[in-house]
Amino acid sequence: MIVGHLKPLEEIVASIAEYRKVFVVGCGGCVSVCLTGGDREANALATELGHVRFYEKEPPCLSVATIERQCEPDFLKSFLNIPEGTDAVLTLACGAGVQTMAAVFDPVPIIPAVNTTFMGATSEPGVWQEMCRGCGDCMLAHTGGICPIARCAKNLFNGPCGGTNNGSCEVRRETPCAWSMIYYKLKKTNQLHCMHKMRQLRDWRSADGKGPRSLVRPFNKPL
Ligand code: SF4
Ligand code: SF4
Repeated sequence: MIVGHLKPLEEIVASIAEYRKVFVVGCGGCVSVCLTGGDREANALATELGHVRFYEKEPPCLSVATIERQCEPDFLKSFLNIPEGTDAVLTLACGAGVQTMAAVFDPVPIIPAVNTTFMGATSEPGVWQEMCRGCGDCMLAHTGGICPIARCAKNLFNGPCGGTNNGSCEVRRETPCAWSMIYYKLKKTNQLHCMHKMRQLRDWRSADGKGPRSLVRPFNKPL
């Protein structure tokens, strides 16, 4: 899922201060799972933003709604009604949701309240960790299901750097060395031969070499 965190309150206040009527919109998708942008957070943010102490004049008039997925144009068109007279929308979605909102509700100003951070998973209650960089050419089959692109600080492809130290990464001691984890996982699954395979230089065009990527799934064809 996509993980994000709320922008500093002062930054959000500054970005809406010029508007009189602001519509705060939560997203019920990924950002609600990481407790950043769901319905509860949207309402809490609107309450906070309503305090007069943040503004030179009076605070904007704030209303709140949450929609299941802000990254789905059809959802937005069918289920989200922007209240009449809205000057700007403050969205708690990830960057994809913000941009979809901006396209669907053009020319209403759409303002992000969240910094989109990474694609990750829950490692323990209240903790999310980056797991994938969306490289477009997944190599997890050869690395014991552990991604060296997202989880090795140097994105190494052919084993650890010289700094790995008792299972810790030299870049940040509290982080496990991804290649150490990969080694022990491969050992456990009798796949250590994968460690000996030299990987060629990667063609990064599947990641981001050609500008924004897209996925086209033809209709009426099996997956
Ligand atoms: S190898 Fe690429 S697609 Fe697979 S988890 Fe890592 S970044 Fe994601
Ligand atoms: S110590 Fe391990 S995780 Fe850290 S940069 Fe080196 S190989 Fe990557």
